[in-house]
Formats: sequence, C-alpha cells, structure tokens
Amino acid sequence: MSLSARSRRRASDPRAVNLAWILDVVRLEGPLPRTDIVRIAGLSRATVSSLVTELLDRALVRERYDERRAGAGGRPPGLVELEPGAAAAVGVDVGRTHVRVAVADLGLNILAEAVHRVDVPDHHDETIELVVSMTERVLQESGVDCSDLLGVGVGLPGPVDRASGRLGSATILPGWVGLAPRAELEKRLGSLVRVENDANLGALAEGLLGAGRGSRVLAYVKVAHGVGAGILINGRLFRGASGTAGEIGHTTLANSGPVCRCGNRGCLEQLAGASALLAQMAEAGIEVDGVPALLQLADDGHAGARRVLADAGEHIGVAVANLVTLLDTDRVVIGGELGAANELLVGPLRYAARSAAVTTAGSSIEIVSGELGERAEVLGAVALVLREPLSLGTELLGRR
Ligand SMILES: [Zn+2]
Repeated sequence: MSLSARSRRRASDPRAVNLAWILDVVRLEGPLPRTDIVRIAGLSRATVSSLVTELLDRALVRERYDERRAGAGGRPPGLVELEPGAAAAVGVDVGRTHVRVAVADLGLNILAEAVHRVDVPDHHDETIELVVSMTERVLQESGVDCSDLLGVGVGLPGPVDRASGRLGSATILPGWVGLAPRAELEKRLGSLVRVENDANLGALAEGLLGAGRGSRVLAYVKVAHGVGAGILINGRLFRGASGTAGEIGHTTLANSGPVCRCGNRGCLEQLAGASALLAQMAEAGIEVDGVPALLQLADDGHAGARRVLADAGEHIGVAVANLVTLLDTDRVVIGGELGAANELLVGPLRYAARSAAVTTAGSSIEIVSGELGERAEVLGAVALVLREPLSLGTELLGRR
C-alpha cells in the first residue's frame, strides 16, 4: 500500500484522499465488514462510517448482508464491496490460434465477449486491426459507457519487457518480436492499455477467481503452443527484474536436444508444447488437426493420443518440480489449451513433480487443473486493469 500512502500525502483534499484510500482497501481486500476497513485503513470508526456512507451514496460501493453470519437476535454485519457497475475494463487475449476480447464490470463479471479463431495471428498490423474492431463491437454489445472504461488489458504469449512493453524473442509470435503494441493500441482505442505475459494473466485470474484462491505462493502453468508459468505471491504478480520470471517453457530438459527457436537446446516446449505433441502424432502416422482434435481423440480412448499427453505431463512435471523447489509454492494450477486434458495430463505431471521436488515441498504441494478454462487469460487481462494496480481510488472517484 506504499503507493497509496504516498499519494495520500501528496493530495490536498484530505477527505478525497481518504475516500480513495477506502475504495482501494475495498477493491484489493474486499468484500470486508466495516470493522476490518477500520483496522486496515488505520482510520477511526466514525471517519470510516462517514466515508463509506458517501461511497454508498455515490454508487461506488454497496453493502451486502449475509444472513448466515447473523448474531444472536441482531442484524448480520454488512460486507462492503465495490459496486460492479461503477466501472469497466476490456480484456484481450492474443494466442497462437485465437484472439479473445471481453468487457467486464468492476466485479470482474463478463458483460460481453467475442472470440476469433485465427491460424497464426503473426501479422502484427492485421491483429491490431482485429483487436480494435472486436473491442469496439463488445463495448457496443455490453452497453458500457466509454466514460466508465478504465482501460484495456492485453495478454501476449511471450515475455513482455516491463519498461518498454516490447515482446521478447521467446514469444511464439515471431512477427511481433521487438514491437510495442501498447502504444499503437492506446492511440487506436483512446484508452489506457496495459500489456502483460499471458501466463501471468492466467495466474492473476485463477488466483482471484479460480483454482488458486487462498494460495499464498501460487504458480500457474499455461500449457498451450508455448509453455509458461505465472507466479503470484500473496496475490501480487512476481515478474522478476525484467518481466521474464516463470518462462519455464525455455528451461533445458535435454542438453543435446534440438535447437529451439529461443536459441537454446532441448527446451521443455520442444517436448511438451502443442506443436511438439501434434508432430509426435504425425510421426506415428496419425494426422491430428489441432489441439481440440487431439483432446477428443484422447477422450475417445486413443492410446497414442493418451500417451503423448501423459509424456508431456511428465516432462512438465520435472520443470514444475524445479519451480516448486525454488519458490516453495503451496499450489500449482495447470491451465492452457492442453491443460483442458485434465487428469490425462495433470495426473502424470503431478506424479513426476512430486517425485522430483524436494521432499518437504513436494509432499505438500497441491497440483490441480484450472477452473477458468480458456477464459483464464482474458479474465486476467481485465483484472490487470481493475485489480492489479495498487492505487485506483482517485481514478474511480473522478468518474462519479
Ligand atoms: Zn527454447
């Protein structure tokens, strides 16, 4: 909360500063009973009561009563939470074979959504064009007023440099390397744009809304055409010094393996990424048209399809064991297009990870499938705008 604390000191109107502060406390920690707001905000009961009343009047928060928490003969304590309709954000998820755009309210509820399947969204200009037109369409469908839009979060499959917003060379979109889509999209959409690695967004979403809830040190592993991990520590993204933390797809599993597009040899992605799995099937004389077809085949009991998924799970499990040993994570969530294979992939992955991780960490580690499916990244993109910033209260107040 240091950022908010600093902006508190800077601002001139103490009441506006405290209103923003309460809004941020409720946004980051809520829903909360008033007594918790008093404790976290470090303000008096009377001050908090007056501030919450004003926020209720301005329709920025609402108070919900949970009857199950009622005391003996008394009214149950209210829980203060954000008013979902007070603001909105757009989330964009650009993958190897799709572009997904969604509009969500402040409560992270999706109001409108569109998916476009593309073969290879490698042509930067065309994809930007597509993202802009899809954003305009979903905004219109959702009925969200442009003045309520706080920003656009964009997930890209590769490491995103924190300072420049440029995409690093380990991306699976070679045509995007070194480009900075943030500036271009801000110009086209006339809105603040934040760009983030897609696995980081999956971690954010599963941690807030899905299988990672309640975890203190969470790793989310996205298994799709690329393999990458997002790390969430006490609800905050851990990006590393330059933004590439968690790029486990490019950790070496086979020293003398083939050269990877990243320049190293024997990377995990070459053994367990979707392209590798489809190539393994083709080598066995079974042409499979994409990941959904592979999963369907496995679901139908095809031994070869099940085997490539199980082998991929084992390889990823070894990398996950290293991650668990380094970070002492308490939960690992497996998502991404291949994560949808559930136990066919996650079962062997869990076994391999538990065998290879340091015993104390390995024995307690929970490894589970994601709950948000193919929406994880787009929900994370929305959360990047609405939940991730430490300080957003002043911005929200300025709109009501
Ligand atoms: Zn590599």
